[in-house]
Amino acid sequence: MFGLFQNWRRRRQLESARLPEAEWRATVANLPILEGLSPADLERLRDLATLFLAEKTLDLAGGLELTPAMGPLIAAQACLPILDLGLDYYRDWSAVILYPEGFLAHHEYTDPNGLVHNVHRPLIGEAWERGPVILSWADIVETLDQPGLNVVIHEMAHKLDMLTGAVNGLPPLHRGMAVRNWSRAFTAAYDHLRRNVDRGRPTALDPYAADSPAEFFAVASEAFFETPAVIADAYPAVYLQLRAFYRQDPLARRASAPPPTAPVPPGPPLESE
Ligand SMILES: [Zn+2]
Repeated sequence: MFGLFQNWRRRRQLESARLPEAEWRATVANLPILEGLSPADLERLRDLATLFLAEKTLDLAGGLELTPAMGPLIAAQACLPILDLGLDYYRDWSAVILYPEGFLAHHEYTDPNGLVHNVHRPLIGEAWERGPVILSWADIVETLDQPGLNVVIHEMAHKLDMLTGAVNGLPPLHRGMAVRNWSRAFTAAYDHLRRNVDRGRPTALDPYAADSPAEFFAVASEAFFETPAVIADAYPAVYLQLRAFYRQDPLARRASAPPPTAPVPPGPPLESE
């Protein structure tokens, strides 16, 4: 019964209060990560983002003031991983707490191409089981144009991981997927990354992934959506498992996306304060 009621409520929500076109366009323009999604995919993402904002509360902390851009920008990124899974994958929790900044640690790492990445990682907070997701607005804004990093997707991946009741880098796999194959792919990649970190070698993923299998899954999910070519090249078996789990192929859609011919028109300015 609850499901029927919820479906009815969601349909009503979409009919009566969908994210407005102009707001949605501005959001998409600010998110290079959405490149390659078809117009139909973007419309489905808009529906999910609308429902996400209707069903989750956005609580502001630390004196942060809400701007109209914040909700849609967070919702669009949060819903990308569940575009082909559905909003019920985010059941059991209802709040996003947004801080202005200030609870993330800073570090740098170098990838195999010699590119230096500047990374922020949470010191406290993160996604608590059944609890709120805690995010820093400054870090969301700062990582928008940092390929490979996405603090929203990182925390959402933890929420998906938690659906099994254990936080261990193993989300609930679909029919046709095998825990054995998932474990083999992820364990090999995790061990490889840890060896490189221990020896001070460049790493394809943010070395924070070496912290635990749960962090590896969250960081690999960021890379899957942000820089699919990097993770497909470094850890192809992990890419295939993530492709099966998320039911998306960011590598293929990026490859088929027309190259940008003109700079993306900027959305409304994103203030970090
Ligand atoms: Zn994490």
